[in-house]
Amino acid sequence: MSTPTTVTAYAAPAAKAPLERTTVERRAVRAHDVRITVAHVGICHSDLHQVRAGWGSEIFPMVPGHEITGIVREVGPAVTRHAVGDRVGVGCMVDSCRVCENCLVGLEQYCDEGPVWTYNSVGKDGQPTYGGYAQEIVVDEAFVVRVPDALALDVAAPLLCAGITTYSPLRHWNAGPGRRVAVVGLGGLGHMAVQLAHALGAEVTVLSQSLRKREDGLRLGADDYRATSDPATFGELAGAFDLLLNTVSAPLDYAAYFGLLRTDGAMVNLGLPEEPVQIGLQSLNGLRRSMSSSGIGGIAETQEMLDFCAARGVAAEIEPIRAEQVNEAYDRLLAGDVRYRFVIDAATL
Ligand code: NAP
Ligand code: ZN
Ligand code: ZN
Repeated sequence: MSTPTTVTAYAAPAAKAPLERTTVERRAVRAHDVRITVAHVGICHSDLHQVRAGWGSEIFPMVPGHEITGIVREVGPAVTRHAVGDRVGVGCMVDSCRVCENCLVGLEQYCDEGPVWTYNSVGKDGQPTYGGYAQEIVVDEAFVVRVPDALALDVAAPLLCAGITTYSPLRHWNAGPGRRVAVVGLGGLGHMAVQLAHALGAEVTVLSQSLRKREDGLRLGADDYRATSDPATFGELAGAFDLLLNTVSAPLDYAAYFGLLRTDGAMVNLGLPEEPVQIGLQSLNGLRRSMSSSGIGGIAETQEMLDFCAARGVAAEIEPIRAEQVNEAYDRLLAGDVRYRFVIDAATL
């Protein structure tokens, strides 16, 4: 008979407060649950937005972390998908209604009732959810994916958010041979977008604030790398792209970017700025350009992405950190000082 466990975790006690070492209780394993010993957990810019209460409706204390890899330690009696000892991952969601139109087609992230997020959310049991900056996590097997043997658990962790968040729109908007894709911002999401778009066969351009990371961008698979601080960039690349993935966490001059799209081109916003943004629509109107947004990806698509990465040798570039470095890592992430994802070694918790 499984019992709840108390495990070490890092939590923000209140909005904007530094994270502190603490403990969190994990529920007893239910019929369909798996208990996972966390091995590695990535630091996503969304962790930062939420700890700093940038999006509204945050629940504190908050244990962030939705780029989780680890090893299955215990399974409930009805579990069929995973076994003790399996290498697994958990991303941004841990549950959904499973019966709505979106859930039934594998778009659990767009569940009519709203999915249960891995943290800063409330589970079906009415309890707040706590994320992966912790020694263990208990998750329903349907929201746990397999990490292929070819992927090390540390460089696989960021795939659970940054990987799927970029893979899903690249697939939906048909990035592939003959298509020109621009990635705005070479951060955690951006460096995955470049690798994945290149692996899918698209021609890739990075649009970064400066040329500081140019060599990295080209090594990751970009065909071209331009600075958005250089006004000439917007003239030279006018009408150049079929798809523009915006990974920037702050508002941009959107009209300038629309001008880079060819007829029927799409700008897909992945970054989620804390402030409302202003958009002049005239620049979309001219060439039937569109502006959209995309949220992570479904569970089956997350597994597909992991298998694709394993087959194509794609993984995150990480800076491993110890748990006690988390606050320093947040400051550096805010300052754009990371290549390209901080990943906490959960053994240091
Ligand atoms: P990140 O590692 O901080 O990368 C963001 C990049 O944007 C930076 O590396 C920088 O690239 C560029 N940038 C930052 N501030 C900028 C500014 N003021 N103007 C222009 N460019 C700027 O963050 P991330 O983890 O990739 O996350 C990016 C955003 O996506 C966040 O808002 C996050 O919440 C959101 N997100 C959304 C989803 C989703 O489902 N839609 C999932 C995960 C994350 P350069 O130095 O190259 O310019
Ligand atoms: Zn994320
Ligand atoms: Zn649903």
